[in-house]
Amino acid sequence: MSTDEVPFDLVAREEVRIDRTQLERYVTCPFMGKAVESGLVRDGSLAALSGSEAHDAYGAMAHAFSLGATDAREIAEIGLATARSANPLVQPDVLDAVKPSLGKFAGQLLYREDGQKRNPDDMLRYQGGKDDKSGQLTARIESGTTGPVYLLTSEVDLLMAGWNDRHLEETDWKSGRTRWNASDVRSSFQFRFHAFLLFENYPTLESASIRVWMTRLGYATDWAQFRRAELPDLRGLVMRGLVERETALAADVPACNPFAEQCVNCPVTGRYTANKVALCPAIASECEDCASDPQAFLAEYAAKQADLDRRKKLMYAYAKAHGPIEAAGLICGIKPPGDGRLGIYSRKAGRDDE
Ligand code: SF4
Repeated sequence: MSTDEVPFDLVAREEVRIDRTQLERYVTCPFMGKAVESGLVRDGSLAALSGSEAHDAYGAMAHAFSLGATDAREIAEIGLATARSANPLVQPDVLDAVKPSLGKFAGQLLYREDGQKRNPDDMLRYQGGKDDKSGQLTARIESGTTGPVYLLTSEVDLLMAGWNDRHLEETDWKSGRTRWNASDVRSSFQFRFHAFLLFENYPTLESASIRVWMTRLGYATDWAQFRRAELPDLRGLVMRGLVERETALAADVPACNPFAEQCVNCPVTGRYTANKVALCPAIASECEDCASDPQAFLAEYAAKQADLDRRKKLMYAYAKAHGPIEAAGLICGIKPPGDGRLGIYSRKAGRDDE
């Protein structure tokens, strides 16, 4: 039989593995997604490393529970020992991030919210778990009849049995300084992607509850609820991400989404070509303005800065009299943890808030 006669469905289709972070970059800004995936820039930071090490401490506690540990103090000690052995570059920050909540979280592993003792079998998956306990979830999506098969993956930190066999509970550990709430969880790409993976992996699942456990604060958000009926919405989000990626990979210069909240966390920001032009085209035109008349650029900067300072004073006065102002992912008000000073800070620390 010649190659032409081989039935189509016997021809191996290319499999492309894409993780959640990778896809989320394309949704955030296609240029950033391609710049990182192509290796043009690297995406990494000490904050991300610290988050990863803090996750390991929590994963170690979950592992101890899965092996049958029943003493909260013993489980917390295992988490602390893991944090102490973190990379020295970030070990102090890791200890600050996990110490406030190790004991409380050990208690959460051992007891349900209604006070009933948990069985280790209630823990279905966790970060660092092996085989069927692995937190890694994958869903297959075929691109048309001839395109690649996408293997979409992400790791859940902790997945517990829910109130019945058609419900699951996911807890995600965040060691950054962001204060999350249930509405943030419901609208975030990460957790919508996770809900999609859960419904794809557990065919009888009717609903999933997801929350963020803030390790520095020692408490969790309320549960954000997702229902199977929402699966088409969740799949639509994922498909849009795949289209953004395919379009960006095919383009010489992918589209930019130059929104201030995301540019500030983007690894492309501050990177230049060999010709000393900003790598990001959305910023490059400003670079050209600066190069053509640097004195005028500085004068304009000074004028804008003076205007911003004036506006900041007005906002501080308003926030002092009326309470915090919240918009565009920022809060103007008393800075946490409440030292009495006014400031403008981000509700979200961005991608490094792991
Ligand atoms: S700096 Fe902004 S516009 Fe440019 S690649 Fe990054 S996110 Fe996109």
